[in-house]
Amino acid sequence: MLLVQKFGGTSVADADRIRAVADHVARTKRHGNQVVAVLSAMGKETDELYHLADLVSSTQPGRELDMLVTIGERKSVALLAMALADLGVDAVSFTGSQAGIITDNSHRRARILEIRPDRLSEALAAGRLPVVAGFQGMSTDREITTLGRNASDLTAVALAAALDAELCEIYTDVSGVFTADPRLVPEARRLRELSFEELLEMADTGSKVVAQRAVEYARNHKVRLHVRSSFTWEPGTMISEEYEGMEQAIISGVTHDESEAKITVTQVPDRPGVAGRLFRALADNSVNVDMIVQNVSSDGRTDISFTVPKADLASAMEVARPLLGDLGAADLVADPGIARVSLVGAGMKNNPGVAATMFETLSDTGVNIEMISTSSIRISCVVRGEAVEEAVRALHAAFSLDSPDGAAS
Ligand code: ADP
Ligand code: ASP
Ligand code: MG
Repeated sequence: MLLVQKFGGTSVADADRIRAVADHVARTKRHGNQVVAVLSAMGKETDELYHLADLVSSTQPGRELDMLVTIGERKSVALLAMALADLGVDAVSFTGSQAGIITDNSHRRARILEIRPDRLSEALAAGRLPVVAGFQGMSTDREITTLGRNASDLTAVALAAALDAELCEIYTDVSGVFTADPRLVPEARRLRELSFEELLEMADTGSKVVAQRAVEYARNHKVRLHVRSSFTWEPGTMISEEYEGMEQAIISGVTHDESEAKITVTQVPDRPGVAGRLFRALADNSVNVDMIVQNVSSDGRTDISFTVPKADLASAMEVARPLLGDLGAADLVADPGIARVSLVGAGMKNNPGVAATMFETLSDTGVNIEMISTSSIRISCVVRGEAVEEAVRALHAAFSLDSPDGAAS
């Protein structure tokens, strides 16, 4: 069987870790499998490379930045291939470009257009073990590109799809997908199975255990995922299509996200076209708007609040401010001190009481809700940033996610 095995930064953080990973990969091959390994950069190396760029440049042309930060993965793949050679495995490292990952021409967050995995297929056919640098590709203009932070997950899933692999294993520093971030909630339980939709909502709302675009790609191309530990090697969480039809728990997890900020446009005249103009201007300036809430109108005027990534806050304010007069609005208020807490679960669809219990729990915990948004399998509340950890723990307890009967098991 053909397996793609992806190892994150902590999993290959030092020489011992690289040798441990080599042992595991070699063992998987010895058991009769074909393996393609995909690696992240060692430890925090990518952060350090971005930091170096900050020290020498304020302009940071995208081409040069991508040239710089792709070094990290190049180093880890060469080292793993060497460690595998010591174990008698004929391994060969590839950059993203050599592995045939073709992207569009945008730097820093390029999109995959096509995969031409000929060199990987040839290596596999020759009994060799390809070790591929995650997070990177080559544009149609033949420049080195990166696919966005944490995108080694995406590289692994995209290669698994292109090579028609049986399974894509995401090895990380926790033993699977938990009912909440186990660093925040020690009682969180590992989920045995999960649907793509649920993992996608979890990724969308702040759980970074598998990168959001990777989950999306896996769902669209039907790539089965197994999220598991590179420290204990025990079986982790399976994510597949088959799970979608099974009986599901009401709530699978509680997530939180501190990466967004809120903007409120106050006293907007309540007439058609105002929201269209505001959000068109933001979209035209590539500001990613997430939640939007328009308050009940009184005296023909209303407040519109929306959230944007903290990184986009300054540019969103710059775009919105000149429109105030035109829109007839009174003021524009930026609030970086928010966070979002969300409940995700496929069984929520048929259980009308979930929202009520969520709001009651937050109220009993003394946490004020500033905005609410829902999908069919998620409820999110914006709260004060300093209250979010308490909110996560309270909701985790209120829905009994620490007991096997509470969550999907
Ligand atoms: P890697 O470097 O292997 O890609 P990441 O740091 O990107 O690892 O993702 C793993 C981390 O995701 C864990 O250390 C954990 O703190 C965090 N995490 C957040 N939410 C969850 C969750 N619900 N289940 C498991 N891990 C989670
Ligand atoms: N090394 C890259 C990053 O830190 C990609 C990854 O780790 O997935 O974003
Ligand atoms: Mg990751």
